[in-house]
Amino acid sequence: MIPLFEEYPDLTNNIPRAELGKFPTPIKPMRLIGGDIGVKKLFIKCDDVSGEEYGGNKVRKLEFLLGEAVRNGVDEVITFGAAGSNHALATALYAGKLDLEATLMLIPQPNARYVRRNLLMDYAAGAGLEYFPGQMTASIAARLKVLHNRFMKKTATRVIPFGGTTEAGTAGFVNAAFELRGQVEKRKMPEPDYIYVPLGSMGTAVGLMLGLKAANLKTRVVAVRVVPFEIANHRKMKSLFDRTSRFLNRADPSFPRYELTEDEIILHDGFFGGRYGLFTRESAEAVAYADKREGIKLEGTYTGKALAALLDDGRKQLLKDRVVLFWNTHNSRDFPESVDSVDYRALPHSLRSYFENSVQPLDRKK
Ligand SMILES: *Cc1c(COP(=O)(O)O)cnc(C)c1O
Repeated sequence: MIPLFEEYPDLTNNIPRAELGKFPTPIKPMRLIGGDIGVKKLFIKCDDVSGEEYGGNKVRKLEFLLGEAVRNGVDEVITFGAAGSNHALATALYAGKLDLEATLMLIPQPNARYVRRNLLMDYAAGAGLEYFPGQMTASIAARLKVLHNRFMKKTATRVIPFGGTTEAGTAGFVNAAFELRGQVEKRKMPEPDYIYVPLGSMGTAVGLMLGLKAANLKTRVVAVRVVPFEIANHRKMKSLFDRTSRFLNRADPSFPRYELTEDEIILHDGFFGGRYGLFTRESAEAVAYADKREGIKLEGTYTGKALAALLDDGRKQLLKDRVVLFWNTHNSRDFPESVDSVDYRALPHSLRSYFENSVQPLDRKK
């Protein structure tokens, strides 16, 4: 039984969930980095090991998203993402475990080694891959029409949006806040003042914000934006918060309708770098530093930017005497070796450019 359902038993009957991950995920001190930047009480939440074979933050969302798909009796899920999307890959892998087919609709992003790896793993997981390079053109519109017709035929198909952020997916991170409270009660760490987390499709940050209120923790989320402002902003965060709060309240009326005002939101804007998936000097440095100092494996699109923001705030003495939790949203499980032997030419032709063109400058091996 997950902590959110223990607290609100009626949710158990009304919200389906597939057990996919391994929870609670550990909390560990980050003593060396904390010492370097003068944050004595710095900890890490290891969602990188949230699943046995594939971890990261998407597992918590997929427990709810795929639970819903199974209850709806679908045989296929379709989702969206950038070419190297961790969400798309996680969906493919966990859909497979539940005997659901997965189709991934992918759009361009800056090239990186992890993009190649994820694409090969998507393929090895047996996912259907559809790539939409370039701007919206007539041919893409025609392609979308074909896909649309396929949706219509297969009414049982379930569409999961970018990043897995629906009310149900976000509920996975409401639960995560209750999980954290349990760990604070067990003295795994003191009650945090701040949680640093990347802000993409917003489900992680907003789910935590709602969950922290519901779990009665004083902890505040520092959301480090890694996508354009049009995609993640105060208004959209509030809207998702309200929708998720209503969703839980409908499923169990004893779950209160929480309110969020926009001035409660801490949105860190300075580490995005102007383009999704583009590594910045700061993110690349944070990734290298976390690995060298603590053996923590991060990446440049999300977690490197979130850690860079934390390091910067720490060095500016903004976190002095604070209890700070870095929420690691990135998978750290190795892929099976067999993936290395996948020939990229087996993938749709239009994806070859990721393998034939070089990776972005900050991702090149020194
Ligand atoms: C998807 C993803 C995020 C962003 O989470 P959202 O809920 O979409 O905001 C952060 N980190 C990693 C590694 C991710 O793959």
